[in-house]
Order: sequence, then structure tokens, then C-alpha cells
Amino acid sequence: MCQNKTGPSGKTEKLRVCRKCLLYAENREAFFQRLEAYIANLSEEDRAGQTVYEARLAQCAACRHLTADGMCRLCGCYVELRAALRVRRCPDVVRRW
Ligand code: SF4
Repeated sequence: MCQNKTGPSGKTEKLRVCRKCLLYAENREAFFQRLEAYIANLSEEDRAGQTVYEARLAQCAACRHLTADGMCRLCGCYVELRAALRVRRCPDVVRRW
């Protein structure tokens, strides 16, 4: 989705708008509740074990790539979701998990 916006130079610029980000901006609390519900409803087949999940999150919590919103700067994922998925791995060149 694109929108036009006047930039600092006075020229009209096309902006790409992320629908997910707009939903997030509209209702941040509801967004995180949906994310938590999604994680809670993962099937056992898809879900990482609790010990693995907690160990992964401990690595993320100490990582310089973690943003204040809980996203990984390298992959753009919310780390609580990424860490909950059994098949996912840390995207860093030297994987932390
Ligand atoms: S997924 Fe890997 S690179 Fe990203 S925040 Fe977690 S430990 Fe850091």
C-alpha cells in the first residue's frame, strides 16, 4: 500500500505503508494480546519445548539486536513468537540459538 506525503524538501514522496504496523499503531495492547494468543495456540508439533523456549528468550534478552519492542533487528520477528516455533533459529551469523 502506498501513500503520498510532502517531504522536508517540499516534494511529494511516495511512502510504503505496512498494514501490520498500522494495526499495531492503532491498538498496541490488542496487537500484543493477539500475538500472545497466537503463541498460546501453537500446536505441540510446531511449538518449541518450554525449556528450549526460555533458553532462547534468555539469549535474546541479552542480545544487542533486541529492540525495546521485543523485535529482533536482524529478522524483524517478535522474538517471543520466533523462539516459540520449534523449527526457527536465531538469524545472527553466529547463531545464539
Ligand atoms: S533472534 Fe538472535 S539475533 Fe535476534 S534478538 Fe534473538 S538472539 Fe539476537
